[in-house]
Amino acid sequence: MANNILAIKNLNIHYGAIHAIKGINLTIKKGEVVTILGSNGAGKTSTLKSISGLVPVSKGEIIFNGDPIHKWKAHKIVKAGLAQSPEGRLIFPDLTVRENLEMGAYLRSDKVGIKEDMEYVSGLFPILSERGKQLAGTLSGGEQQMLAISRAYMSSPTLLLLDEPSLGIAPILVQTIFKAIKEINSRGTTILLVEQNAFAALKVADRGYVMQTGEIVMSGPASELIENDEIKKAYLGH
Ligand code: ATP
Repeated sequence: MANNILAIKNLNIHYGAIHAIKGINLTIKKGEVVTILGSNGAGKTSTLKSISGLVPVSKGEIIFNGDPIHKWKAHKIVKAGLAQSPEGRLIFPDLTVRENLEMGAYLRSDKVGIKEDMEYVSGLFPILSERGKQLAGTLSGGEQQMLAISRAYMSSPTLLLLDEPSLGIAPILVQTIFKAIKEINSRGTTILLVEQNAFAALKVADRGYVMQTGEIVMSGPASELIENDEIKKAYLGH
């Protein structure tokens, strides 16, 4: 469909003999927040990495803004407007907070836009501007997560992929992070969110997909998934 920013068609991923992703289909419309839920090993991270060009696609297509990107190199995908904030954060620990943010913008040349976005992320997470000169490796887990999201945002993505932004961080910061996700989305960035915290993810999302052992087993509006008995039992703890 014309207003899909992303369309995944029959995506398959193999790691040697392991068939990790078994022919999934998924679409994201411009402006949406879409979440992928699923237990450990379901294939969520593999799906995100294949979109970002970090894991090879063995069969199927990934169409971003009308372009088939499944054979593109990762930097070309970032340049086209698709950025990922990875699980485990992967910030540069020996660079300062500020330098990490600058690294996020390294493929850009629009100085004014970079400055504006730098101010925007500082407003989103004021702690980051307070800690601008601090080495990123010395930040708390939650602060590193904020930095990872901000660094991905600094590439000025039209589609932002977030892998487990709430993993291992204090509950109070989880709220801050989900508020920021909503805010980034309201500023015009489309978001694909992978989360173990299914409740928080469904609260912020428009639609969701549920993955199990490499397949999509359910999908629909987030407001329906959050009321679904199977989802409640499997992912919402009641
Ligand atoms: P988690 O929430 O634990 O990260 P996930 O849903 O993101 O889980 P993936 O990390 O995508 O799941 O893993 C999907 C399957 O692929 C798992 O069976 C996993 O063991 C396997 N897998 C992932 N990465 C590799 C790899 N580099 N080599 C071999 N197998 C892998």
